Amino acid sequence: MGILLVEDEPNVVSVIKRGLAEFGYEVSVAGNGATGLQMALDHDFDLVILDVMLPVMDGIQVCKLIRQQKQTVPVIMLTALDSTENIVNGLDSGADDYLVKPFKIAELAARLRTLLRRKSGELQPKNIFTISDLELNAESKIAYRNQEPLKLTATEYRLLEYFVKNQKKVLSRIQILESVWDIDFNMGTNVVDVYVNYLRRKLEKGGGSKLIHTVFGMGYIMKEGEPDENTK
Ligand code: CA
Repeated sequence: MGILLVEDEPNVVSVIKRGLAEFGYEVSVAGNGATGLQMALDHDFDLVILDVMLPVMDGIQVCKLIRQQKQTVPVIMLTALDSTENIVNGLDSGADDYLVKPFKIAELAARLRTLLRRKSGELQPKNIFTISDLELNAESKIAYRNQEPLKLTATEYRLLEYFVKNQKKVLSRIQILESVWDIDFNMGTNVVDVYVNYLRRKLEKGGGSKLIHTVFGMGYIMKEGEPDENTK
């Protein structure tokens, strides 16, 4: 995933570059508006992050010129000035979204995902799964709760993916065991309960609602809201 960052402040560059690397993005950097424009036109980036205040040529101008070349690349503007006028200028110049500095990397990453998803349209509808405020990217193997990435082990991730892909279905412990672990009946189904508890703890750590419910005598179900009468 190639992202172009046009930003002249070294501190901001290093924070964004390092932060987005953790989300699996590869970031190329241009230190001024003219270089940024050239790079955006010469290469096929998936997305451009554009600061407004830049040497040589400002971000508004760069964005207008990118759009004149009919580039459909998504552009997100970074602005230090929280003025409506500035934001309107940015969006008028053809930017798709904007963020006011200072911002959290998780917030930037969330905006990028939205823009990239919109761009890819129906090309990859199978790779992103959601339920409530939980989002799972089956390609990058990262799950987010309320836009914050969850730190999951490989097994926890596989378990979560299985639940999310089979949401609203009652899943027996044997079904879960066979799908998430290699079949090994000697292991017993206790391991399922143990891992479901690990996963629940991580999912609900930030105060999120309960998504994995126990169905008494049957197994588990992933769904939003309160459990049914026959669940506990
Ligand atoms: Ca700047």
